[in-house]
Amino acid sequence: MNELTTIWPDFAPDFFCKANLCQHSCCRGWEIDIDAAAAEWYQLLDGKIGAELRKNIVQAEDGTYSFRLTKDERCPFLRRDGLCRLILELGEDALCEICTMHPRFFVLCGNVELAGFGLACEKTVELLLAEEGPLTFYREGNEQKRITFAELVKGLGLLGEREEADRLDLFSFRPEHDAKKIRQLFLLMQKTEPIDEVWSEHLNDLLREDEKVRKCCETYTGLYETAAFDRIFQYIAYRQLGTAANYGLQAIYRYAQMSTMYIFIEAAVTENLAEAVRRWSEQIEYSEENTALLLQAAGKSKN
Ligand code: SF4
Repeated sequence: MNELTTIWPDFAPDFFCKANLCQHSCCRGWEIDIDAAAAEWYQLLDGKIGAELRKNIVQAEDGTYSFRLTKDERCPFLRRDGLCRLILELGEDALCEICTMHPRFFVLCGNVELAGFGLACEKTVELLLAEEGPLTFYREGNEQKRITFAELVKGLGLLGEREEADRLDLFSFRPEHDAKKIRQLFLLMQKTEPIDEVWSEHLNDLLREDEKVRKCCETYTGLYETAAFDRIFQYIAYRQLGTAANYGLQAIYRYAQMSTMYIFIEAAVTENLAEAVRRWSEQIEYSEENTALLLQAAGKSKN
């Protein structure tokens, strides 16, 4: 049997959780599932923390466990200063699987595992945007040898007759200037399940003020950093390469193109590129349904 190869993006060795310095802690706003082994261990823990754990774990009808979130949707063990009580009192090994792994992702593409960190995490976005050169990847255990996104796609055997590794337009972001297409993108985003009310209201504002949005995009076209947007585009596509067998590589490119375009518009309007990336990821990448909806739409689109 072939040994599994794991690929990481170039910034992976620099990743660390910002913990109490994080503005958008992932310990709030989401349901936090607890794996069965951790839940079992929590049930047996002695002392005050054990009693608190048992009080704050809920079991759904299907038998799965999760933390009972507070009214403001925080993990009950997240302290006001942003630190985790379970880590402080029991050590990192006490974390359930999801808290240990987050925000890492692992996607299978043939016998290759594509690993990375989700863009809903502000540290990930900081690292992705900190580099000025093209996005590169390395094989776990061989950090020194870097390959480009084009080389990775080629190495994975995903290039068909329609794609050639040296056709850079397939691997680069191109801003959209057609007002009708921008409007279509907003309408498509409106079909996704909103993460919260703020997302829906903001999207409605963008649609209402489409002329203002168009002007912001026009100005931003002369200002934006192409290398940063290519890194965003390629990293978004990278996370979906495992779905190439279902949707096809062209659909993944179009998914990355429309997603990066949405981020471009957000950055043009708000002048906050990092937050535009993070917020897009929360809405799309952290919902399997929303990701599938965009991939399916990208599969049908001819542009
Ligand atoms: S979003 Fe990222 S940096 Fe912030 S708490 Fe979560 S893992 Fe840490």
